[in-house]
Amino acid sequence: MRVNAYAAPAAGQPLAPTTVERRAVGPHDVLIEIGYVGICHSDIHTVAGDWGPQPYPLTPGHEIVGTVAEVGTEVGTYHVGDQVGVGCMVNSCGECVNCLRGEQQFCLNGTVFTYGSTDRDGTTTQGGYSTHVVVDASFVLSVPESLDPAHAAPLLCAGVTTYNPLKHWGAGPGKQVAVVGLGGLGHMAVKLAHAMGAEVTVLSQSLRKKDDGLRLGADHYYATSDADTFTRLAGRFDIIINTVSAGIDVNAYLGLLNLGGAIVNLGAAPGPMPVNGMLLAGHKSVTGSMIGGIPVTQEMLNFCGEHGVGAEVEIISADQINDAYQRVLASDVRYRFVIDAATFA
Ligand code: NAP
Ligand code: ZN
Repeated sequence: MRVNAYAAPAAGQPLAPTTVERRAVGPHDVLIEIGYVGICHSDIHTVAGDWGPQPYPLTPGHEIVGTVAEVGTEVGTYHVGDQVGVGCMVNSCGECVNCLRGEQQFCLNGTVFTYGSTDRDGTTTQGGYSTHVVVDASFVLSVPESLDPAHAAPLLCAGVTTYNPLKHWGAGPGKQVAVVGLGGLGHMAVKLAHAMGAEVTVLSQSLRKKDDGLRLGADHYYATSDADTFTRLAGRFDIIINTVSAGIDVNAYLGLLNLGGAIVNLGAAPGPMPVNGMLLAGHKSVTGSMIGGIPVTQEMLNFCGEHGVGAEVEIISADQINDAYQRVLASDVRYRFVIDAATFA
């Protein structure tokens, strides 16, 4: 079936209305009527060509929440009318050691990402800036009915991307967590680390979003443009979550780590990130994380359902996507743009 969508016709070009083909619902597939889809900075990097050539025209979107409209004959896990989500991936081999560990984002035979990937049937995947999507049921997530769909959509990428390393590095009571950058990922990291019981500090370029940061659950808020911040907070943190979409001076942040602490890089700016090895003394680590497998994504959604955690969103219509991209690039997002998929129709 052909469905309405928005696509980037070429690298760096504005997105425009189009249609995309969705395959017929196979025995293991779920047809989802999309309700809301978030705008992740990764959509912007991809469309801009920051991460290399893409199969244009390309429909981005990997923060999808909607309603099940049809299920394949072999699907027992979902029923018509269920609230469901799709994140950054839609397929993997299911057989390699990483897939068997539930880390499908590291499939050794090639993860099929939600857009711009070659699917296992040879077609190019097209993302959620669209009215409908067909996805293998094993990559569909159950979204607690208690969560509002617009506020839940960003959990499918920004939520799991921050939940996964917070959990891995033991965020919880007695832990000091810093979040660098208060955008889409950053504000979810603040909410989730706070819900896990950690003491949370935001490190933002300026203090202009301080009231929001404290309201979202941060205990402290400092500007990285103030050199004093780096002396005042020396040795403070167990975990630093870097969500900045541009390069950062990792060496400056290593000084803020406690002994044994870790800086987790989530930002995906192209290019190298030089580290001064001497600054790693004290068993400090510079590490990274990429989204999360299907099991941890479902765990995160259940956690958000139990704790009433959703994203702060600005709901926009499809014709506002290009303006929203400019605002994200200007760090003027509060704190995730979410597109009302009814406006693709
Ligand atoms: P976003 O909403 O644009 O947030 C990024 C924040 O970084 C901005 O709000 C801003 O916060 C800060 N920032 C931006 N430019 C900066 C600069 N030049 N210097 C210092 N700080 C700057 O983006 P997002 O959607 O959260 O994504 C953030 C990054 O994570 C992107 O690179 C994205 O591709 C990547 N990402 C990675 C994964 C993963 O699995 N690892 C998943 C999703 C996204 P302040 O105004 O508070 O300073
Ligand atoms: Zn994303």
